[in-house]
Amino acid sequence: MKTIQVSVVTPDGAVVETDVEMVSVKAVSGELGILPGHIPLVAPLTISAVRLKNGNNTDKVAVSGGFVEVRPEKVTILAQAAELATSIDIDRARAAKERAERRLQQAKTDDVDFKRAELALKRAINRLDVGGR
Ligand code: ATP
Repeated sequence: MKTIQVSVVTPDGAVVETDVEMVSVKAVSGELGILPGHIPLVAPLTISAVRLKNGNNTDKVAVSGGFVEVRPEKVTILAQAAELATSIDIDRARAAKERAERRLQQAKTDDVDFKRAELALKRAINRLDVGGR
């Protein structure tokens, strides 16, 4: 099976550097399945899971938005934060979710706080989803 290189990079450094048979990402415009030889593109990502597939195995990475750059032999994902499923702290994500929910209750009159809390809630839910508990 042919493979494609994939890097997931954050301001703190690379979270993933590997070769996989397929990468799936959730772009703002919809889900993208990327195989080796894919046409070049750049697309913004939603707060979502990146799936790295090799045979029957799929590894998941939680990404807090960012961008995917596809070249025929390499996929680069640039995100403000990204965590492999195995390195997600579930208690921390649960606490972040509860905090964001409380803020959403309180922030109804303030658009900026509302948007911030909404994004924090999405990040927490995504981490709980990817972390699998
Ligand atoms: P929190 O309120 O718990 O900090 P957050 O969504 O505000 O959550 P971010 O600003 O997205 O956190 O991330 C800050 C840093 O902490 C990043 O390096 C990110 O990878 C890491 N991080 C955040 N939440 C978790 C988690 N539940 N498990 C592991 N790493 C996390």
